[in-house]
Amino acid sequence: MIPQTSPKAIINEERDALDQAIARVLESGSYILGPEVEGFERAFAAYIGIDAAVGVANGTDALEIALRAVGVGEGERVAVVSMTAVPTVTAIRRAGAIPVFIDIDPDTCLMDLEDLDRRTFDTPVAAVVAVHLYGSMVQIDRLALWCQSRGLALVEDCAQAHGARLSGRHAGTFGDAAAFSFYPTKNLGAIGDAGVVITNRSAVAERARRLRQYGWNDERVSETEGLNSRLDPMQAAILGVMLPRLDARNARRREIAARYDRAFRDLPFGLQYIASEVEPVYHQYVLRTPERDHLAGYLRENGVATAVHYRTPVHHHPIYAPFANAPLPGTDQTAAQVLSLPMFPGLSDEEVDHVASIVRSFYRKP
Ligand SMILES: *Cc1c(COP(=O)(O)O)cnc(C)c1O
Repeated sequence: MIPQTSPKAIINEERDALDQAIARVLESGSYILGPEVEGFERAFAAYIGIDAAVGVANGTDALEIALRAVGVGEGERVAVVSMTAVPTVTAIRRAGAIPVFIDIDPDTCLMDLEDLDRRTFDTPVAAVVAVHLYGSMVQIDRLALWCQSRGLALVEDCAQAHGARLSGRHAGTFGDAAAFSFYPTKNLGAIGDAGVVITNRSAVAERARRLRQYGWNDERVSETEGLNSRLDPMQAAILGVMLPRLDARNARRREIAARYDRAFRDLPFGLQYIASEVEPVYHQYVLRTPERDHLAGYLRENGVATAVHYRTPVHHHPIYAPFANAPLPGTDQTAAQVLSLPMFPGLSDEEVDHVASIVRSFYRKP
């Protein structure tokens, strides 16, 4: 069986360096925050090209902390797509805010900025969360200007976009703050939960540092209601091993995507449209077809695992359904059609060609 994703392949490649990093943490005697966490925060900020990185326990917390750090408060409305991982909306709710669902453009699978403009005319929002889905990027330069002109906060959900760029500029540097997840299968993954908040605004970084640790100020006095959401030093040390290889692994993902693209040119299904100014990182390689479930079953019978991101858009999850007060036709149509093929840097050309040949045979093409 060819898996859809495989974090173990990367762990195996880096085994010696990881063992050394883990041993270093064990020997250090410092097991909460400390030099490993600070070292990774500096390295990640330098990689992205941003002033500050604040390591936290996971991507959901990163997003909650980012929202609260940029000033989104209790009862405020936040525009967001429903075509995302549930945690995007979990974080908005945990910040005490109310999601206002915006439809996607089915071609890009990303927030439709015209729909944002329309839906927020009657229902004003305090902030926008931009989700860079599947490793592509929202028209974030345009969206940042739109938010600026209205005095709205902009937070980027970069959980699927480590290293993606728009016109040469990294995902995560356009908003007031951005959140990353280092869940093991993400483009940059730990061997457990981990996340980070990044920002160019020193006051936002300061608030994020307080929020991640009981709301403490420098004197360990709690002035806000915080969380306990610190990046674990063991995960920081592991991420420090993985980070220098991120660009090479993203490049490999792009090679795999190009190989699929070539093999599928004459097939009757759509692919996620990626604008020319975006350098994507292919967290997922997604095709769309009304025959999605038949194709997935056929692939499985022929030894190829696939996944669906996401079969149930967030606004159809029972707990979030009350926030959906208007239909989201682009979202519903897309959720019924998307299929994620195997995509991870350890896939060989032969495996990619094998997957492609099975897809082609489903469409009766040699
Ligand atoms: C993975 C993911 C998250 C949540 O990250 P966790 O580390 O699992 O909390 C949030 N948003 C998106 C788009 C994701 O893919």
